[in-house]
Amino acid sequence: MKNIPLSFEFFPPKTADGIANLRETRKQLAVFKPEFFSVTFGAGGSTRDRTMETVYEMQAEGYDAAPHISCISSSKEEILELLVAYKEQGIKRLVALRGDVPSGLVSAGDFKYAAELVHYIRQETGDWFHLEVAAYPEVHPEAISAAKDLDNFKSKIDAGANSAITQYFYNADAYFKFVDDCVKHGIDVPIVPGIMPIYNYTQLARFSDACGAEIPRWLRKRLEVYADDLPSLRALGVDVVSNLCGQLLSAGVPSLHFYTLNQAGIISTIINNIGLDSKP
Ligand SMILES: Cc1cc2nc3c(=O)[nH]c(=O)nc-3n(C[C@H](O)[C@H](O)[C@H](O)COP(=O)(O)OP(=O)(O)OC[C@H]3O[C@@H](n4cnc5c(N)ncnc54)[C@H](O)[C@@H]3O)c2cc1C
Repeated sequence: MKNIPLSFEFFPPKTADGIANLRETRKQLAVFKPEFFSVTFGAGGSTRDRTMETVYEMQAEGYDAAPHISCISSSKEEILELLVAYKEQGIKRLVALRGDVPSGLVSAGDFKYAAELVHYIRQETGDWFHLEVAAYPEVHPEAISAAKDLDNFKSKIDAGANSAITQYFYNADAYFKFVDDCVKHGIDVPIVPGIMPIYNYTQLARFSDACGAEIPRWLRKRLEVYADDLPSLRALGVDVVSNLCGQLLSAGVPSLHFYTLNQAGIISTIINNIGLDSKP
């Protein structure tokens, strides 16, 4: 049995049913004794209140909860208000992001890139927060080159980020190469693989095209066959993602971060498949 830290990412639910479902999901995932649960933040602050409420509820249940903060189209005052609230609440970890630029955005706000947000958080709150940032083993879609993207990633670490969580990927070599390149660039923070289980092919394909994560051709071709057969698609997905996690664990990754889409079943199966023990 192996034993490494795990974390699970949720989105803030909108409805009473969604809230009840998330309570059940985190109860099921809590058996794996995660290091923290994180909660996403809609671009432009669209989920601000729901992200806060979800985080506070998890914290009240005794879990370490990490809110995401995205800075695009926000003012410094708005970000500071969030930081003060989270600090007062005793939150110790944040996932600091730029966010995706909403269509029709008129003003970018006071921050253009996530490195500026990291710098601002350090300036205003010192070392209070452990800061996670995003990393892209398969290169962020807006980057002009892989080399520039790596430089831009380094600027977030230089601004004071403590660790990174990657965009999801299905090709372990992309992650290994990225980590090697980071080491060559003097980046020495933990780079935690973000793991996306396969729930639904159409949704995954659309999302992957938008965020620059690649579904390898061999996998696309196999998943396409099961477009109308959810049980078979999920069984294949569990196999593929369990294999990927196995490769990552063998290579000694520092931790695994799961994108849950607020569901526990598939992830629990994957974690059990790869023989991870609950932390003591
Ligand atoms: C783990 C994880 C969690 C996420 N959670 C959320 C969430 O909760 N809410 C949400 O809205 N989105 C979320 N995202 C998505 C993320 O906001 C998008 O991928 C967004 O497009 C980039 O955010 P970033 O923080 O990586 O931006 P940045 O690090 O600012 O990078 C964005 C782009 O700008 C480039 N760049 C950076 N600095 C410069 C510079 N000085 N000059 C020129 N180019 C530059 C980079 O190379 C990159 O292409 C998440 C992503 C990950 C991996």
